[in-house]
Amino acid sequence: MDAIMSHIKEKDPEQHEFHQAVHEVVESVKPVLDRNMEYRQQAVLQRVTEPERVIMFRVPWMDDEGQVHVNRGFRVEMNSALGPYKGGLRFHASVNLGIMKFLAFEQVFKNSLTTLAMGGGKGGSDFDPKGKSDNEVMRFCQSFMSELFRHIGPNTDVPAGDIGVGAREIGYLFGMYKKLQNEFTGVLTGKSLAWGGSLIRPEATGYGTVYFAAEMMNVKGETLENKSCLVSGSGNVAQFTTEKIIELGGKVLTLSDSSGYIFDEQGIDTQKLEFVKNLKNIRRGRINEYVNEFPEAEYTPVDPQLSYNPLWDHKADCAMPCATQNEINAEDAEHLVKNGVHLVSEGANMPSTPEAVEIFLDHKLLYAPGKAANAGGVAVSGLEMAQNSMRLSWPSSEVDKRLKHIMKSIHKTCLDAGTEYGVEGNYVAGANIAGFVKVVHAMLDQGLV
Ligand code: NDP
Repeated sequence: MDAIMSHIKEKDPEQHEFHQAVHEVVESVKPVLDRNMEYRQQAVLQRVTEPERVIMFRVPWMDDEGQVHVNRGFRVEMNSALGPYKGGLRFHASVNLGIMKFLAFEQVFKNSLTTLAMGGGKGGSDFDPKGKSDNEVMRFCQSFMSELFRHIGPNTDVPAGDIGVGAREIGYLFGMYKKLQNEFTGVLTGKSLAWGGSLIRPEATGYGTVYFAAEMMNVKGETLENKSCLVSGSGNVAQFTTEKIIELGGKVLTLSDSSGYIFDEQGIDTQKLEFVKNLKNIRRGRINEYVNEFPEAEYTPVDPQLSYNPLWDHKADCAMPCATQNEINAEDAEHLVKNGVHLVSEGANMPSTPEAVEIFLDHKLLYAPGKAANAGGVAVSGLEMAQNSMRLSWPSSEVDKRLKHIMKSIHKTCLDAGTEYGVEGNYVAGANIAGFVKVVHAMLDQGLV
């Protein structure tokens, strides 16, 4: 296994996030490899860590002043053993091949946990939609799709949203796909309700993260009622995580964006959350505007000199990171433990560094890794694909019931896998083992392809 890690690092030395994601899985699945010696001869680790296909392309677009810009587009088609590639598109300045590969790799095991027939992929661009006009975003999306369309399809690869890609971007991308292919198919998920979207898809990742947290608490005979929660981010996942916590009787104290965070000791109630949704989804403003509307809250801008994020340094019962990768480092994790946080459920992908995860596990926190806790989003994307295939749409109560059931079953799968392999209560190992075993079995069934 050390040899595999060294090989991956030597081959792509700059892909740190990918190394981090692979290292975690490789560590977790050691006991699986020990029980199945043929996996070594079959080189399963080498096979799951090498993408089936990587597409990288130029995305030229023109801004409102007539200036031409060039961004880089990516689609990493990681693994199709369980179904068509499935995973979001991220538009953010930090996007590079290493980040795309880490996200695609995580997606393979996450999709496997959902029990739906989906392989794993991820894509995006280093284009940053912040501060761009609707027309600029539309031109960018059209240019992006004018290359991507030839690589995707409802039975091949079905992208969705992620950071910087919401309903607006999915609409522009879908419109261009439809024009180029001359067909109206469920090639993207996260579509608007009026033209093929699923009820509960926007809510699914956040709701699922909270359902998973509630399941972990249930094992300990607790509920989320009256629990205080620290939530980061203020985008799609953070908004619906907050909504579900409020609904289950908990109290959300914080929200953030990349410029800073707000702390509202009285709790972010439904009316305040509506303000945030409007601010972020319609006006596309910054979270500091929250304190103009609700002066009882405090705003703290990001301080680049600090080695920790003060958002995680408040007394609370639970933490739900919903912004981005590696947003909780060892110092933040120490702060969380010191402040009495005993549950961490990750809405974001890989938001905790390996050192932070070690601290959570050492202190026996209820800790759910993103690939299990945030799988509700892709699960409902899978349900959107099913509804598109049948050309019908289920009511929200039906989709929510299925989402709850899937999250419950992912929770049980992780617990059972942990117990079977001697790491009881360790959801990281449980998620990695359960996700890995299913993918590997499918790969071996399908021969050396
Ligand atoms: P959005 O673009 O809707 O929101 C992202 C939020 O995180 C924004 O508040 C953004 O602030 C903040 N953020 C992004 N990058 C950084 C950064 N480098 N530092 C601090 N804050 C940052 O994205 P989503 O809510 O969809 O995604 C959030 C996380 O959830 C990601 O990790 C994503 O991969 C994961 N996820 C999303 C799913 C989905 O269904 N959408 C499914 C599963 C996982 P700002 O506006 O300033 O950039």
